[in-house]
Amino acid sequence: MNILEAEKNINEKGFLDLEIDVKLDLFAEIERLKKEKNAILLAHYYQEPDIQDVADYIGDSLGLAQKAQETNADIIVFAGVHFMAETAKILNPTKKVLLPDLKAGCSLADSAPAGPFRAFKEKHPDHIVVSYINCTAEIKALSDIICTSGNAEKIIESIPADKPIIFAPDKNLGAYLSKKTGRDMVLWNGACMVHEIFSLEKITKLKIRHPKAKLLAHPECEEPILAIADFVGSTTQILKFAQADSGNEYIVATETGILHQMQRNNPTKTFIPAPPNNSCACNDCPHMKLNTLEKLYLCMMYEKPEIIMDEQLRLNAKKPIDRMMEISKAAGLIG
Ligand code: SF4
Repeated sequence: MNILEAEKNINEKGFLDLEIDVKLDLFAEIERLKKEKNAILLAHYYQEPDIQDVADYIGDSLGLAQKAQETNADIIVFAGVHFMAETAKILNPTKKVLLPDLKAGCSLADSAPAGPFRAFKEKHPDHIVVSYINCTAEIKALSDIICTSGNAEKIIESIPADKPIIFAPDKNLGAYLSKKTGRDMVLWNGACMVHEIFSLEKITKLKIRHPKAKLLAHPECEEPILAIADFVGSTTQILKFAQADSGNEYIVATETGILHQMQRNNPTKTFIPAPPNNSCACNDCPHMKLNTLEKLYLCMMYEKPEIIMDEQLRLNAKKPIDRMMEISKAAGLIG
């Protein structure tokens, strides 16, 4: 297939389906393209190790959003899922934002379609809508404040105590926050396919086999998993905990991509992926893992697929993200 045909098929395939010379050093090529095009490569912790190793910045949703907003690069290459690249475009619209595979979606974002969510919101007209950043631009535009798992508690605490709250789209994170902050919340019934299938039974058995191992869990996990966790936090908070803690062994209940940074930062410690409720030993996000080094190289080479947004939608979606950034800065969560 040539480039013209590949471009024609890009929406159907999600990426440029072109052959790459197997002898090409993709790491060197990606570095070259970054310099030539003044591009910055932002990668989420859940990306495959090769992509993390070639990224300029690796982070969670909050850190990545801040980097995307601040960068002076002409091109932002986002190795993550669609809503993350879309958030980068919302925050920095004059930049060209590229995503290696447009089909890298998110089951959590998909669990909140705009039409039903608007109807849900209309049933609770006096509520403040707090939405987790893992949602589409349409849901952001219907929200008052966005949050990430790293700042969610501070965001909830910033809302006057007499104001009722709708939390969307993740019911597990919402329930966790409600318990932590003591605030009643109306929860949208969404969940992440990766975090909701950890097996309580298998984790309990793993804990018996590794009695010194601490269980580290992301708040998108279901309540029974969070109830037995030694630490609950965002990906960045989990990474910091593993580094500062005096223990040596950890069971990690979040997407397995994070293990790469954990092991790199703590070469003498042992990290065991928490097993899901199926025949697999670990839990990969199929959306995150759609991005590959090959697709990344092609998207940087040909500057496609690109994130294109309706300007009014972008402006409406930006307001609640700006609010989140203000609260996060005031709370000292970002610089
Ligand atoms: S891990 Fe869950 S929330 Fe994150 S991108 Fe994958 S499906 Fe979405």
